[in-house]
Amino acid sequence: MSLASFISEFSNCSSFDFNARPKPPIRRKRIRSLLMTLSTNRPLYEEEWFHGVLPREEVVRLLKNEGDFLVRETIRNDESQIVLSVCWNGHKHFIVQTTIDGHYRFEGPAFPSIQELIMHQHLSELPVTGRSGAVLKRPVTREIWELSNDDVVLLDKIGRGNFGDVYKARLKSNKNEVAVKTCRMTLPDEQKRKFLQEGRILKQYDHPNIVKLIGICVQKQPIMIVMELVPGGSLLSFLRKNSATLNTKQLIGMCRDAAAGMRYLESKNCIHRDLAARNCLIGYENIVKISDFGMSREEEEYIVSDGMKQIPIKWTAPEALNFGKYTSLCDVWSYGILMFEIFSKGDTPYAGMSNSRARERIDAGYRMQAPECATPEIYRLMLKCWEYEPESRPHFDEIHTIVDSLANS
Ligand code: ADP
Repeated sequence: MSLASFISEFSNCSSFDFNARPKPPIRRKRIRSLLMTLSTNRPLYEEEWFHGVLPREEVVRLLKNEGDFLVRETIRNDESQIVLSVCWNGHKHFIVQTTIDGHYRFEGPAFPSIQELIMHQHLSELPVTGRSGAVLKRPVTREIWELSNDDVVLLDKIGRGNFGDVYKARLKSNKNEVAVKTCRMTLPDEQKRKFLQEGRILKQYDHPNIVKLIGICVQKQPIMIVMELVPGGSLLSFLRKNSATLNTKQLIGMCRDAAAGMRYLESKNCIHRDLAARNCLIGYENIVKISDFGMSREEEEYIVSDGMKQIPIKWTAPEALNFGKYTSLCDVWSYGILMFEIFSKGDTPYAGMSNSRARERIDAGYRMQAPECATPEIYRLMLKCWEYEPESRPHFDEIHTIVDSLANS
């Protein structure tokens, strides 16, 4: 069916007889918007209700009310499939079928484009399949943070992450420079979901000491996370490069920034689980921003059940290592190690010890010596963060108060 004949059939169709319907103005408006939508003949990915390769969990989160729908793409065995997802007695996902002559359909008529198929289903209010009874009532459009891949121009490579390279980039819309984390196309879907987890968590946060999310690009591969560009890069490299010039006041300032960011996260019930100098960024005037939320969880307590393979042992609290039990007080332990990294200007903790040796010795009561630049107050705070019993450690609120008063003294 061509576009023109679809529109004409649609307009003449008795089930769309305006006079017979209870809400004629709405229906006329919908027809007008349909004509506009179809007359532009734009590619599918420009449709506001097309969400690209947005993972299923995200899709389910977006479809809240009966009849909410969106269209997305999945890649199976290197083949792309277009899927219509609908909130209807739970969530239903329908793969768009292609006919031998290259048209698109579900159970009803075929159309030359996916847009026409979707609009037909939406406006006719006919069930997508007889069995599901699912009716498309309200298209769910892309959220503000779902950017198009074409909105971003990658410039230089500035880092290497777990999932792919990190670039300095420019947004076409406002020419602002941003940082973009890319996810290797060859990674399995499960990994891509993990990659996007960081975006999902960061999306809700707004604090000067937490790296800001600008958006995610999921319209096509490679999927990308767009963040504010923090010009100094990783705090660990910065400490090592500038060890000769950094003074105590500056180092305390860094600890205060990190404590402010962590206090905010704790107030939001977010456990970072990977706080370390390598995962902090340093910006203008040495401001520290907490980054790398790949392992974070939004829970008061998180029990690891999927193995502890990639755990940063030397940064992780004993109860997390021994029982997989994570709370914000584990982040407090890691914060103590971060303080050590800052005051030693980038030394590796427990130098000369293997991970398992460090773990053994901590269980036996060993704690690292004060780094050279640490004042007695700073070292006392580090030791408090390394109390074996989590309940004996200070919360970030208290830590921030202490460090802030040291920074101002
Ligand atoms: P992953 O979470 O995949 O391990 P990271 O967050 O550790 O990736 O990023 C890798 C490196 O990229 C960082 O060490 C840093 O040098 C650089 N980087 C990451 N995010 C930014 C950013 N927002 N601004 C500037 N550089 C960044």
